Amino acid sequence: MSSTYADVIVDITHEKLDRSFQYLIPPELEGKIVPGSQVRIPFGNSNRSVTGYVLSVGNQAKYDESRMKTIQGLSPDGVTVEAHLIALADWMRHTYGSTMIQALRTVLPVKTKAKGKKIRKIELLITKEAASELKKECERKKYRAKERLLDELIEKQVIDYHDAVSRLGIPVNTLRGMEEQRVLCIRQTNIWRNPVLLPEVEEVSFALSSQQQLVAEGIKREWQQRGRPCLISGVTGSGKTQVYMELIADTIAKGRQVIVLIPEIALTYQNVARFCARFREKVTMVNSRMTREERADQMERARLGEVQIMIGPRSALFTPFPNLGLIIIDEEHETSYKSEATPRYHARETAICRARLEDARVVMGSATPSVDAFYQCQKGEFALFRMQTRYGKAMLPKVWIADMREELKQGNRSILSRKLQQKMEEHLERKEQVILFLNRRGYAGYVSCRSCGHVMKCPHCDVSLTAHNNGMLICHYCGYEREQVTRCPSCGSPYIGGFRAGTQQIEQMIKKTFPEKRILRMDGDTTRSKDSYDEILGTFSKGEADILIGTQMIVKGHDFPNVTLMGVLLADLSLNADSYRAGERTFQLLTQAVGRAGRGAKEGTAVIQTYHPEHYSITAAVSQDYEAFYREEMEYRQLLGYPPAANLMAIHGAGEKEEHLMEAMEYVRRFLIRINRSDQVQMIGPAKESVARISDLYRMVLYVKAADRELLLRLREKLEQYIEINKGFQSVYIQYDFNA
Ligand code: ADP
Ligand code: ZN
Ligand code: ZN
Repeated sequence: MSSTYADVIVDITHEKLDRSFQYLIPPELEGKIVPGSQVRIPFGNSNRSVTGYVLSVGNQAKYDESRMKTIQGLSPDGVTVEAHLIALADWMRHTYGSTMIQALRTVLPVKTKAKGKKIRKIELLITKEAASELKKECERKKYRAKERLLDELIEKQVIDYHDAVSRLGIPVNTLRGMEEQRVLCIRQTNIWRNPVLLPEVEEVSFALSSQQQLVAEGIKREWQQRGRPCLISGVTGSGKTQVYMELIADTIAKGRQVIVLIPEIALTYQNVARFCARFREKVTMVNSRMTREERADQMERARLGEVQIMIGPRSALFTPFPNLGLIIIDEEHETSYKSEATPRYHARETAICRARLEDARVVMGSATPSVDAFYQCQKGEFALFRMQTRYGKAMLPKVWIADMREELKQGNRSILSRKLQQKMEEHLERKEQVILFLNRRGYAGYVSCRSCGHVMKCPHCDVSLTAHNNGMLICHYCGYEREQVTRCPSCGSPYIGGFRAGTQQIEQMIKKTFPEKRILRMDGDTTRSKDSYDEILGTFSKGEADILIGTQMIVKGHDFPNVTLMGVLLADLSLNADSYRAGERTFQLLTQAVGRAGRGAKEGTAVIQTYHPEHYSITAAVSQDYEAFYREEMEYRQLLGYPPAANLMAIHGAGEKEEHLMEAMEYVRRFLIRINRSDQVQMIGPAKESVARISDLYRMVLYVKAADRELLLRLREKLEQYIEINKGFQSVYIQYDFNA
């Protein structure tokens, strides 16, 4: 069924997004007008013809049709980047569940009122000889001002307008007159708030290794043949960045632009400098430490074609390049690529959609690809490229496992295993550096046995139970509850309980063990200020400290050639997070952490401390064998119907009154059962969320599983309509999340 009405907007700035107008679609354009279409419309009282963008189409008139104006036709001036971004927003709205305005706010660049400063310059247009002639003439005629100006211009060619008027005292009329005579021109240029300081390194371009060459050529062949998204699965230190650079060079040589997504945490000076060294002023970046205005400026420069390469985190995906050719997603597995604000989009999926709309390419890379992306390779949706050795002579590190159950048996209650302590002494003795990584993801209070490693899990969902203050253990998927245990159900040991350790306590302990060593700590507390992150890394990198203790922040994207030992203090914290992705996160964190050691000429060593030495996430990380991990993990996902084996929609509810919220969520569940009698969907919950209350709002979640994603999207659309007309939901906020 084709649509009869279109919502059209004329001014697409964030402030005006709610001011769209409904127009009639003329019969000859029915079916041809979609969100993003640029149309000519009669506008305002005078009905002058202007260009507008279609935000949505539908069959419901918002007001009396006889007063509605009709779209005149499609706009003749080609498709702009704004049109593409609107179409992208429409896809996001549909795929992730949000209003069109929320989606548009996410994709459209912010237009700031305070524009970048402009400055004016005066440039000499005639030759120096001609100018000297003219100067002599002015001397004779005693045109003193002109004489002074020409003097200055002969010397410098270009001078500052403001300076000419104030310091040289040249009347504005004189300048205009000379401009008319084409002696000079007055140019206006933008001064951008440009944060990218080009590093003072020499322009470098490496020769690719044969492994890098093979992958780069393979990807270019894929571009010519099928154009599928490409995934580079390359061990840490294999040199993926050089491959990206080759592909970037190829793309900008064709006059197209490139977006490089790097997780915020890895957007370090060191990383960005590598791109600047090669591509110079073609590069710009955005990050969260820049002001809103600075970021807006970089987006504007991209739109105007002043830069060709944008480096940034998730949000850089919406850079308004006029002719986008390539999107690179480095560290593709990172959780920060998933937005936590509605629409809760995933940058990988959204990049692929944008690339399809603009005929661009997508290349992803990781040493530990997400199970989702690797699954797409297995299905043939993505093309897979492997890099199995490190660049140059660097070897993958040698990894030891310390079984902490054994340590306890031997009477060692310290946080350091004997192996790790011994290795630390050896490496520090040799004046090499050590990183201690405290895996703190999934901190949320699981319960485990220190004697046998047993973890209290939900019998239905196979995820860890979380201890609550009321003495209960709760599953955050299905709501299953049981009483807290005092003895291990598996071995009877009394050493069972929650696990808590902070970086600060660990720092104090390490200080006691190694009193004469210089220790740095890096976590959320020590990196709160704007530059402290780079400062700590800088200090460590210059060798001004021996031991760096930190959370996952230290795991990403830093090359410290003198770090030869990586100690992972508690591998299991993330393993026991209350999420079906716990095993995946653990494998990723451990592999990336281990991969930090031995990146220089010296061999690297790592010690992983764990209560689960036999778990596949840990054994696969030890051997840096991604595919071994993937096979086990997919079996688990298939068995329990978790993504990517199935699709999982989370319906999050929040409300001020707990009873009211519980009732509303129960209505949601019943409604979904009513409209879907087939056995194609399975529901779990509703249950309290892992953080059950945030700023006085109670939170609950209901999971809906189905093989078919479109089926879930249809259910959501019906549910949205139900909620909109149902008074009981007025004080409950509902949000959706797909495959989180
Ligand atoms: P990855 O991102 O795959 O972990 P990097 O791109 O950081 O690996 O490369 C690892 C190291 O090898 C870096 O120090 C990089 O400068 C170096 N390197 C990679 N490829 C080359 C090359 N072709 N020529 C010279 N050095 C290279
Ligand atoms: Zn036990
Ligand atoms: Zn459960």
